[in-house]
Amino acid sequence: MEKEESRYSKEAERIVKEKRIVQLNPLDGGPSIFIFLAREKGTHRDHLVTYNSCDCEFFLFSTILGSGKPCIHMEAYRLASEKEDFLRISARSDDFKQILTEVFAYGKSLKLRKLISSRYD
Ligand SMILES: [Zn+2]
Repeated sequence: MEKEESRYSKEAERIVKEKRIVQLNPLDGGPSIFIFLAREKGTHRDHLVTYNSCDCEFFLFSTILGSGKPCIHMEAYRLASEKEDFLRISARSDDFKQILTEVFAYGKSLKLRKLISSRYD
């Protein structure tokens, strides 16, 4: 019998395993958002991702204008969602705002990384 191929790429599986799809929950109410966490090294950015959208370049040029194939961030989000395997982080509204500002201004959020590492203190 042929081995069943995963619907997801190895890279998506690795991202989920490394807990790099973050569910950010506002403590003061409101909807959660999902963030793809880039690695520390390299030029990749954090991305705001949902089941059918992402703020990365691949999404705009390939998913929308091209093949329709989801970007790696959406693929990882879908896998995490299926397995309910998100890294769940709660943040006050001022931290929430700071995280989003940093993602858009600098590409990566230091605040989010601090919140994640402080969970283990
Ligand atoms: Zn993307």
